Amino acid sequence: MTHEVVLIPGDGIGPEITRAAQRVVAAAGVDISWHEVQAGAGVIDQYGAPLPDHVIDAIRTYGVALKGPITTPVGSGFRSVNVALRHAFNLYACVRPCASMPGDGSRYDNVDLVIIRENSEDLYAGIEFDADSVGAGAIADTVKKQTGKELGPQTAISIKPISRAASERIVRYAFEYARANGRKKVTAVHKANIMKCTDGLYLHVARDVAAEYPDIAFEDKIVDAACMGLVMHPEDFDVLVLPNLYGDIVSDLSAGLIGGLGMAPGANIGDGCAIFEATHGSAPDIAGQDVANPTAEILSACMLLDHLGETTAAARIRAAVRVTLSSGASVTQDVRRALTGSYDGAVGTTQFTDEVIDAL
Ligand code: NAD
Repeated sequence: MTHEVVLIPGDGIGPEITRAAQRVVAAAGVDISWHEVQAGAGVIDQYGAPLPDHVIDAIRTYGVALKGPITTPVGSGFRSVNVALRHAFNLYACVRPCASMPGDGSRYDNVDLVIIRENSEDLYAGIEFDADSVGAGAIADTVKKQTGKELGPQTAISIKPISRAASERIVRYAFEYARANGRKKVTAVHKANIMKCTDGLYLHVARDVAAEYPDIAFEDKIVDAACMGLVMHPEDFDVLVLPNLYGDIVSDLSAGLIGGLGMAPGANIGDGCAIFEATHGSAPDIAGQDVANPTAEILSACMLLDHLGETTAAARIRAAVRVTLSSGASVTQDVRRALTGSYDGAVGTTQFTDEVIDAL
């Protein structure tokens, strides 16, 4: 059977790592017809926007995509294409498994957790007002009237919307995921001691939903303590469910527990649509040098294959990645440095991919 999948190579290291993932998937014998479309800063001149309509149309048509990272300008410029895609298709659940592999270069060998990040709201919703803008002034007036608190001049404002509906949807997703994947515990992460309204609502909803799943253990942790716990005893964690911004940050922390961002895969899941992409960004510091670790994107492609029902091929690829890493001989520079303190003896993206294919 031929699967129809959209491919967005992205920018920075995106084209190198998506190419690696495509090669491995093809070598595993899965027949995919890739519909390649481009997004990001590089297409603005041609299409007038970083996320052209035909990209949206392609994803709507096929319902599934493999994506490389896309650079977002910092502090100014266009808003994130990655966030825009999640909003366009209501990809409300970001699923990021973090599991140790022998030879991953990490200090830990016992990590096996899954981050479930709410993808649609929170401070990530992009509702922001520049300092001294009309909007910021109007909000400052309302805040003064409602609370008596004064926001000084030159104060920029971001809104943190947390809704009952989105909180319930993501916590339920986490429990259903736990059930479907033989997981034992869900930890809801929050800062409800300080953000009593927003995170407080999230926590109340999480407790209510947890009561419907007596077969799965439940706990909640304040985000700062959760970070300490993850670094001290990652084996204490199983499934973590987090609002958007904490999910973003704790995802990278958790990637650090399994050898770094080059190892951490992910998926953005909605009802009827899914986009698979590594946790990491476009890594402009190493782009175009054939040194990026393609493992995170290859493992994201495995999640895509599971989604398509190609579970045997996905398992074969994961096993091949494990064999390649555990040999210790052919690893990219990020893992090599973690293992030995130096880049010496590292292999490039292409050679690592060749070794994974050989190990299939
Ligand atoms: P980054 O994840 O791109 O890089 C952080 C560090 O990790 C860098 O040192 C980089 O070299 C390293 N790294 C990342 N992926 C690697 C890999 N596969 N192999 C080896 N090393 C790897 O984060 P950043 O530098 O903060 O962000 C760069 C750009 O990416 C920004 O514009 C950001 O907005 C964007 N971004 C995009 C996505 C996405 O497309 N989903 C996600 C995160 C960040």
